Amino acid sequence: MSLRAGKVFLFIVMCSLAIAAIYVSTLTAERHDALRRISRYNITWLASQAGVEFVRLEERLAVAGIQGSQVDADEVQLRLDIIANRLNLIDHGEFKDFASRDPEIVATIGILANAIKDVQPLVDTLDRPGSILQALNILGPLDGRLAYLASAAHTYSSNRVAEDQAELLRLHWTFSFMVAGLLLCGFFLVGLLGWHNQLLERARSKLHRLAQDLQRASADLEQAHDEVQSVNSELHSRNEILRRRDRELGTQNKRFDAALNNMSQALCMVDASEQLVVYNQRFAELFALDFAPMPGMLFPDLIKLSASAQLKDIYARQGALREDKSCISFVRDFGDARTISVSHQPMPDGGWVATYEDITQRRQAEAQITYLAHHDGLTGLVNRRYFHEQLKPALARAERQGSRLAVLCLDLDGFKDVNDSLGHPIGDALLREVGARIKESAREADVVARLGGDEFAILQSDVDGPEHSGAMAGRLIECLSRPYDLDGSEVVISASVGIAMGPFDGCTADDLMKNADLALYRAKAEGRRAYRFFEADMDLERKARRALEVDLRKALTQAQFQLYFQPIVDIRNGQVSGFEALLRWHHPVRGMVPPAEFIPIAEDIGLISAIGEWVLREACAHAVTWPGQISVAVNLSPAQFKTNNLVEAVQRALKTTGLSPARLELEITENVLLSESDATLLTLHELRALGIRIAMDDFGTGYSSLSYLRSFPFDKIKIDQSFVRELSSRPDCIKIVGSIAALGSSLGMTTTAEGVETAEQFEQLRFVGCDQVQGYLFDRPQPAHKLRFSFAEKLAAEAA
Ligand code: C2E
Ligand code: MG
Ligand code: MG
Repeated sequence: MSLRAGKVFLFIVMCSLAIAAIYVSTLTAERHDALRRISRYNITWLASQAGVEFVRLEERLAVAGIQGSQVDADEVQLRLDIIANRLNLIDHGEFKDFASRDPEIVATIGILANAIKDVQPLVDTLDRPGSILQALNILGPLDGRLAYLASAAHTYSSNRVAEDQAELLRLHWTFSFMVAGLLLCGFFLVGLLGWHNQLLERARSKLHRLAQDLQRASADLEQAHDEVQSVNSELHSRNEILRRRDRELGTQNKRFDAALNNMSQALCMVDASEQLVVYNQRFAELFALDFAPMPGMLFPDLIKLSASAQLKDIYARQGALREDKSCISFVRDFGDARTISVSHQPMPDGGWVATYEDITQRRQAEAQITYLAHHDGLTGLVNRRYFHEQLKPALARAERQGSRLAVLCLDLDGFKDVNDSLGHPIGDALLREVGARIKESAREADVVARLGGDEFAILQSDVDGPEHSGAMAGRLIECLSRPYDLDGSEVVISASVGIAMGPFDGCTADDLMKNADLALYRAKAEGRRAYRFFEADMDLERKARRALEVDLRKALTQAQFQLYFQPIVDIRNGQVSGFEALLRWHHPVRGMVPPAEFIPIAEDIGLISAIGEWVLREACAHAVTWPGQISVAVNLSPAQFKTNNLVEAVQRALKTTGLSPARLELEITENVLLSESDATLLTLHELRALGIRIAMDDFGTGYSSLSYLRSFPFDKIKIDQSFVRELSSRPDCIKIVGSIAALGSSLGMTTTAEGVETAEQFEQLRFVGCDQVQGYLFDRPQPAHKLRFSFAEKLAAEAA
């Protein structure tokens, strides 16, 4: 039976129980009613009591009639009242119902009521004779009636009791059955409840299992949901990645297209079946395609349609290489001065990709770079490096073949002056012209190079002998010494040549070059405009100079320098106005080395600044000990102006020695002003601003001495000794010196004549108006402790 059927059944039972309970309740009420009826006022008793009381009334009446009796009228009255009371009871309630069933009884009750009414007056007058008897007579007929009443009441009550008892018995049984039924129902109900409970228990456990299953299913569902969600989010992120990749791919495609079409190289890709896969704009441009090939087009068809012979040529070459599976690059030079570089790369699937680049310009640029790397930009001749590169194999060949070669190193005499005086553009034009003349003089096979500056070199291969090279050198000197017409200016220079013969004068290119250079140095030293062959002693000279350099580096630290001082004498009175400091080097082996020999070396090896600083300090230190305002003149090298610390060095010297700047004079040569850089002039102005005087030394030896006077307001001009030396022999010299003296005085500059050795020179100088003189006539340069401060007596003696 299902739970639902059980529930319906249980409901019916419950309803039945409710009905039974209601019924039992009704039965109980009925039973209660029956009992109430049994126990209620007893009709029998009332009827018999009425009879008994009636008899007592008659008896009392009778006794009251007896003389002397104790019964009085009150007692009789009491009995009468009791009877009246009983009558009241009989005439009401259930007795009345009972009486109404029998007319006889109804009549009896009526008679009794009348009798009582009739008797009452008699009782009130009981004392009156006859009342009692009369009352007894009235009452007498009622005796039988009342007995009947009692009997009828008794019968009636007995019947009713029997009926009630039967009813009670029926109720009892009904009740008992009902209770039994209820008990049965109860038991059944308990059983039913037990069964229901069982059902419920089973249903509960089933439900529990179901709930568990449901829970598990729910957990599974949740897990599945989570999994679905993670799969979803995974899908989402993958989608996102795909979208991004799509976008990137799109961008990449655009970039690829842009890159493809913007690359400088032409590109073309062909698949295994010779179908065009991709090509770029540059490809179409490079081969001037007048149609737009579509991907998928057969490449041989494209070649046929193309009007480009170059493309056909390249494709044919690619075809020849097609069997080769490796990447191949080749360059095709076409007659129309176009060069195309091709990189052919076979693909694994059988196709190929090729890039084509028009390298014409690059080739030209490379050629230009190579040319520039090997040639001198100014003259177009090969440069030192290329010359060197050519010399090496030529020397090896000469050694191999037992032939000779010659290296001619050539240096222009006077080029520097041209450059300085006429300017760099003219100097450059001169160099170009020189290069052209050398090239003309040389054979086709000779290598002509400009090594730098005004140095040139010629490599002669397969020379017959030194005389051949000598003749060549002579021709060159003669040719280069011819006047040049440069932009309207006529320039005359010459050249010196040094020759080294290979392989005898040097087995290596370096040696040959060095030896040719030494020969050139000798040619220059010996008067220029000449050529010299290398000789072994030249190398010794070079070595000697190296040794001097080494010694010079040690000289300063080993205190080998000393300052000598030469007086500068006032031409009017013979008083010493100052001393020129002249550097001396006491070489431990060579003895006294003159400044003209070591100062250029010190300049070359970068020692001049340190030496110059020492000279400044030493000169100032001595000058400060001299009497009066006697000054000291210090020579400065052009190299010192390039150090940028000259002003500080001078200030330091003045400060450490305490010499007044007014007593210091700095001598510079025209070389300092050659470059005439702003920095040099600034330095000079700074020095002058300190109160130091600046003198121009060796005036007149340069090309533009006068123009230099314009560039800086010198305090003094020192006329070079070459003019003084020839004063007596050359009349023009006296005029020149006189002009310089006049110029100096008009510009407010002191003029000092150098190298005055004779009294005659002295007189001439005084005559032309020089202010000061310096020379052996008065004193040679002397160590500081031997100085004389006046030559007035000497002058007086000379005059006398
Ligand atoms: P300079 O400045 O023109 O010096 C004058 C040179 O002429 C000195 O030669 C001096 O000894 C020489 N001399 C003076 N009077 C006569 C004379 O009557 N007859 C002859 N024949 N010569 C005379 P020195 O001392 O050999 O100096 C040569 C050059 O070396 C100097 O020429 C100067 O340019 C340079 N010099 C000397 N000392 C220094 C120095 O400390 N620093 C630098 N940078 N150069 C210096
Ligand atoms: Mg000097
Ligand atoms: Mg001088």
